[in-house]
Amino acid sequence: MQKPFSRKEAEQFFALLSAREPEPKTELRYLNAFTLLVAVVLSAQATDKGVNKATGPLFAVADTPDKMAALGEEGVAGYIRTIGLYRTKAKNVVALSRVLISRHQGRVPSDRAALEALPGVGRKTANVVLNVAFAEPTIAVDTHIFRVANRTGLAPGKTPLAVELGLEKIVPAAYRQNAHHWLILHGRYVCVARKPRCTVCIVRAFCRFEGKTEEPTDTTTKHRTQPRQGRAEKTAGKIQPSAKRTVSVKRTVQATSAASVSKPRAASVRAPRKPR
Ligand code: SF4
Repeated sequence: MQKPFSRKEAEQFFALLSAREPEPKTELRYLNAFTLLVAVVLSAQATDKGVNKATGPLFAVADTPDKMAALGEEGVAGYIRTIGLYRTKAKNVVALSRVLISRHQGRVPSDRAALEALPGVGRKTANVVLNVAFAEPTIAVDTHIFRVANRTGLAPGKTPLAVELGLEKIVPAAYRQNAHHWLILHGRYVCVARKPRCTVCIVRAFCRFEGKTEEPTDTTTKHRTQPRQGRAEKTAGKIQPSAKRTVSVKRTVQATSAASVSKPRAASVRAPRKPR
């Protein structure tokens, strides 16, 4: 059984993630609370990249519940055909738009019960909207967070809800607001599902995972530990920019020790690229 994280370890764990990405943001693009809600509904079992590709044109013509409801299911489906389960999602998006108009004066509600009462909105979606649109310190447990929390031993649990409640207990209050962004980015780019990149992992010293990977030493090349900044994000002033940057991490990061945590320097070190 994994040794539980102490308060101090959790503090140091998040201090490292925070130092690497001081202002993490969702990678979903949106224009307002309503388009954020729609983007999150569409993102179920889909990648943020795939959702962004579809929502760019969709939000250009429908950025309010009125406009979305006016498009109708067929109209919305035409924009989101590339996303899995698009027919069901189109139905939910139009239905939730109508509920927002009839019960909430066309606004996205800021309380969990009202959000979860909307068609196609579950606990995870509500948590993302509460966190990103209303600055609530909620933690939305997706597949990445579920994996990272269990692998590291930070908040082990058999269900997303168990992990969420575990994280609420262990994440220090100062880091609660951004915790889910840090954990998602870490799971998406470093602690990946098939072969976690343990040699460049800045929280390796705290991780309880027994199957940590070792990569061949090659300090002459770099590889990505964060998403690239695309041209659209550099230029699209209206759209929320994602916190995307390339961070190079040197192989020596594997030697990161608890002793060095109080002054994290992970963002300034470099990492090797996998051999071609
Ligand atoms: S050491 Fe490996 S398993 Fe542990 S958090 Fe880092 S990447 Fe994931």
